[in-house]
Amino acid sequence: MHDAPVGDDVYGEDPTVNELERYAADLLGKQAALYAPSGTQSNLLALFAHCERGDEYIVGNNAHTFRYEGGGAAVLGSIQPQTVPMAMNGCLQLDAIEQVIKPDDYHFARSKLVCLENSHAGMPLPKDYPEQVRELCDRHGLALHLDGARLFNAATFYQQTPAQTAQAYDSVSICLSKGLGAPVGSVLVGNNDTIACARRWRKVLGGGMRQAGTIASAGLYALRNHIVDLAQDHAHAAEIGQLLQQLYGATAIRIATNMVHLDMEEERYRALAASLADQQIMVGRPRWVFHRDIQAEHIKLLKGALVAAAKQN
Ligand SMILES: *Cc1c(COP(=O)(O)O)cnc(C)c1O
Repeated sequence: MHDAPVGDDVYGEDPTVNELERYAADLLGKQAALYAPSGTQSNLLALFAHCERGDEYIVGNNAHTFRYEGGGAAVLGSIQPQTVPMAMNGCLQLDAIEQVIKPDDYHFARSKLVCLENSHAGMPLPKDYPEQVRELCDRHGLALHLDGARLFNAATFYQQTPAQTAQAYDSVSICLSKGLGAPVGSVLVGNNDTIACARRWRKVLGGGMRQAGTIASAGLYALRNHIVDLAQDHAHAAEIGQLLQQLYGATAIRIATNMVHLDMEEERYRALAASLADQQIMVGRPRWVFHRDIQAEHIKLLKGALVAAAKQN
């Protein structure tokens, strides 16, 4: 990061940012890419690029873009979110999507975009599902965006290339700062027109950064070197998840790529967390997320602590 060559990225003159954008576009099989300060902004840029004031986007009722991004589409873009129920694995039923698509009539907002998320809380979308939604979008003239904050976890799960996992979509937002381990940043990929439009809105939103190569270099390093390590996080989640299933019952514990969801009763979880805290291990709920800073030695410690906790309770 210290040695990264830098320039003014607002003018497209930062060589490291340019290299990151080229690398990400190629990796995901799209024409162009745009570096953004956060995943929230990169998703918002995609919504702005696909939709205008008075348009609407169709999205799962538990999707990150809808629930956890401050309502930015509506607040800042005058884009109406049309929700449909979202299954635990991130799927929106095809007929549910179709039912909410509005006819071309000035009583209605204009349906423009469908937004999916992969993985969703660690759950990868079924392998053939994105193509089905693509086909639906093509039939209705809608664009398709992916919130791919954890796209590389889904790709790792299916042993696909990132480009295969990104194939069905017009645009994809990826996070460099989640499992990939970079300190900051996201990238939006898409075709040249989408990215040119997003670049304009990035400036408007205050996301145009000057000598951003310093932080972009960490993202580039993560894309080049850290994707292969995600399989290790999945193995760790499986190892801990399986032990938890033995201790607390198979139905209480869901393993999803790099996450373990703990659906056990409140009281049992509290006792478990208190016992782990006694052993200097802090845990949060409702899920435990495994990442590159949790190494084999920590997994070994955690397993010992879990067995001890289960004996206590
Ligand atoms: C983290 C995340 C984002 C983006 O979050 P930022 O904190 O703004 O980078 C978007 N979608 C999902 C599913 C996420 O997990």
